[in-house]
Amino acid sequence: MKKMRFETLAIHAGSEVDSDTGAIVTPIHLSTTFERDPSGEYSRGFSYSRSDNPNRRSLELLMTELEGGEDAAAFGSGSAAAAAVLRSLRPGDHALVPDMMYHGIRSFLQQAVVPWGVELTSVDMTNTHAVADKVRSTTRLVWLETPSNPSLGITDIRAVADIAHDAGAVVACDNTWTPPPLQPALTLGADLAIHASTKYLAGHGDVMGGIVIARKGVDLFEKIRFLQVNEGAVPSPFDCWLTVRGIKTLPYRVRAQQDSAKLIALFLDDHACVERVNYPGLEGHPGHEVARRQMMGFGPMLSFEVLGGREEAMRVAANVELVTRATSLGGIETLIEHRASIEGVNSPTPDNLLRLSVGLEHHDDLLADLQKALRK
Ligand SMILES: *Cc1c(COP(=O)(O)O)cnc(C)c1O
Repeated sequence: MKKMRFETLAIHAGSEVDSDTGAIVTPIHLSTTFERDPSGEYSRGFSYSRSDNPNRRSLELLMTELEGGEDAAAFGSGSAAAAAVLRSLRPGDHALVPDMMYHGIRSFLQQAVVPWGVELTSVDMTNTHAVADKVRSTTRLVWLETPSNPSLGITDIRAVADIAHDAGAVVACDNTWTPPPLQPALTLGADLAIHASTKYLAGHGDVMGGIVIARKGVDLFEKIRFLQVNEGAVPSPFDCWLTVRGIKTLPYRVRAQQDSAKLIALFLDDHACVERVNYPGLEGHPGHEVARRQMMGFGPMLSFEVLGGREEAMRVAANVELVTRATSLGGIETLIEHRASIEGVNSPTPDNLLRLSVGLEHHDDLLADLQKALRK
């Protein structure tokens, strides 16, 4: 059969009508342990819930299909998923990481990964020549995040993957900001796609989770699976169930969110109080051409820099009424955040930058709220 479209897979992959009851919605299996056969076998495929359970398996199968991978491992948060990838490195290995990335993973790299003996080089991943310059024969892992948080820098996944693979390194792409079908990271050459499913996948701001999807033939995945099962940072069956439910509407949500994001970016780009808009859909964005090639649309996230520095940025954030001041992203409510103050003292983020996670409210209402907040 022809491979089905994203909208169809999002609803059906990994889920079946329950054979015992006929339930259309997959039941939640809370049991931590599963019966052995008289022979001692586990012919039904499950033994203990940390190792595997029906709801986690359903989520992993679904995301494997949506990212076009071979296998997936789900975790209790995006950070746990990222940590499992990084923990699969050994002392003496070298890793190349982006200079602009999600600040939580940057802290984990600096405070946990470096102390156990992994060598780290941070590089401008939007500059392919700089990447080629910094890669070494000992480089085991190249970490990508594109568009990057919070400045929306664009990395050419295929170009960087080619450089990394020539050096024998594995390429991991944090795809949180570009949920399926927005950026087929594995098809573009990444070996691992990572999501904080807390964000777009679950999509409703009510469940934490993370997942690593591997393409075929990535040896490192075995170690990631081992860490998932044996360190046990696993999601609960209910969390997996909520995430699967969220994913059923994912393609429609992100399409509407990215349509609104584009309108908001154009509005801000035209506004006298805005110094700069970071959004790859704008023709003046340095990553516009690469984004056009490797993304389906330009994503639902953007950030902008307010004229007048930190004080003015805080004023705009204080003035919104419909939009909510909060961290996180990917939910149905539009959120605005002053990133530098949440990232802490070593943050490279400009002090006048506000990040917007565009939700599913009508774009006219969002535009009116932002217009009022900027004008006051
Ligand atoms: C939120 C986020 C994470 C971390 O996910 P948690 O579920 O909060 O642990 C990692 N990467 C990116 C890009 C994120 O936005």
